[in-house]
Amino acid sequence: MPAGTQYLQGETGLMKNKELITIDGTVGEGGGQVLRSSLALSLVTGQPFRITGIRAGRPKPGLARQHLTAVRAAAEVGQAKVMGDEVGSTDLTFVPRGVKAGDYNFAVGTAGSATLVMQTVLPALLTADGPSSLVMEGGTHNRNAPPYEFIEQAFLPLINRMGPTVKAVLKRPGFEPAGGGLFTVDIQPCEKLVPLELCERGELEKCEVRAVVAHLDESIGQKEVRAAVRRLNWAEVDISVERADHAKCPGNVVLVTAHLKETTEVTVGFGRYGARASKVGNEAGVAMKHFVESGAAVGRRLADQIILPLALAGGGRFTTLPLSKHSATQIEIIGKFLAVEVDITEEDRGRVEVAIKAKSEAEAEENTK
Ligand code: ATP
Repeated sequence: MPAGTQYLQGETGLMKNKELITIDGTVGEGGGQVLRSSLALSLVTGQPFRITGIRAGRPKPGLARQHLTAVRAAAEVGQAKVMGDEVGSTDLTFVPRGVKAGDYNFAVGTAGSATLVMQTVLPALLTADGPSSLVMEGGTHNRNAPPYEFIEQAFLPLINRMGPTVKAVLKRPGFEPAGGGLFTVDIQPCEKLVPLELCERGELEKCEVRAVVAHLDESIGQKEVRAAVRRLNWAEVDISVERADHAKCPGNVVLVTAHLKETTEVTVGFGRYGARASKVGNEAGVAMKHFVESGAAVGRRLADQIILPLALAGGGRFTTLPLSKHSATQIEIIGKFLAVEVDITEEDRGRVEVAIKAKSEAEAEENTK
């Protein structure tokens, strides 16, 4: 029995029916996603967990500021008892005591990704007993995290089709190193999330390539946009370069968006020192090209994000590109908290179909033996 268990039993009385789930933080992708998914699922199911080896293989192991903010945010929303919530901690125990809808302000305090913090608490608030309003502060355009536009245009429209009404507004972008980005999220919950079928993508309705530059020359954005467009065979495309000089430091991204009838895909190139603008634009264009050519309805990154809500809905099906390590990790962590099974079938052009379904009661019981 893990060291914390005895203490938790005495402290909360929660352990009578709810077993402490143990998570090995090094599973799958082994990064912050293991922690954030565990927090999200713990909030929704009310099951406490202990995670060890948090980000053990990363250059700076343990909780970074972004992860700690996610832990604290989840603790506030779930009125949870937490042990091990310090920067650098590799071992954390989280005991939720009931989701509380309401108004929250979560600030990372560095340029760490605020969109990832938001995704930790969002699932629980989608089916909470009242509306919530979130003010999120930190990075909004971080490498290796969902850029704000991906959340607003690709992810939230799917969430809204599952029952709740979630509206996000970007007030100020936050780039590295200063951070200081700000967006709000208003959530009208629903009683139960409904499953989604996203196997066909439908017609391509609108294509956009947009560069954002903060405190930098607009010519950077123009080069990026040109490089991205060159990669794509789009007959009609809306092109723009936008200034965002209200950001706290220089920063730049290029966003390529395909609005399909059924889904939207947003790919991104992050401007950074030492990378030519044409390379940054090319990265966003190539990522979109892969998606377009696959014929899949759901992009690779969107698959990472949508598996968890579909599992909470008890079902769903979608076509996507070969699953990322993040998706594989999601599936593994979901299996620890929910009685769902995920089938993956390979199709043509490297496309895969992912089917999520609730396990029958008998199967679920068998697995807990
Ligand atoms: P670590 O430093 O430990 O890797 P982290 O918490 O910063 O941890 P990950 O665990 O790697 O990050 O998780 C990053 C998440 O961001 C994943 O869910 C991934 O799908 C998502 N993500 C990364 N890049 C994009 C992108 N371009 N668009 C949308 N989502 C993205």
